[in-house]
Amino acid sequence: MPSKALLLLLKNDRQNGQTLSFLKMKHGRNFRTISIHCAKCQFLLYKYHKGGRGGLVKCLLERIVEDRTRGDLKCPQCDQEFARFQMIGNRPSHKIIQGKVFTKGMRRK
Ligand SMILES: [Zn+2]
Repeated sequence: MPSKALLLLLKNDRQNGQTLSFLKMKHGRNFRTISIHCAKCQFLLYKYHKGGRGGLVKCLLERIVEDRTRGDLKCPQCDQEFARFQMIGNRPSHKIIQGKVFTKGMRRK
């Protein structure tokens, strides 16, 4: 179901051709790919499809695009533990330990 705001934007688009292309840009993808790095040694741990806004708190396993770790939630290069395994509902995820990683690709406009 399109939201009211979306319908309003679509309606406005008839008056202004710019609106729709803006809308596509904003809603065409619900996630972006970010890189998750070890805060200690900068090793690339994951590439991840992040949805929603706000900071990275957890990684759903199904959204990890590229996993460069050994799957033990430790940095393969410096052995720092950066996340803890957690079930969210019935989906396995990694809860990020704050300060142990940094992300790239979180740019906003
Ligand atoms: Zn590391």
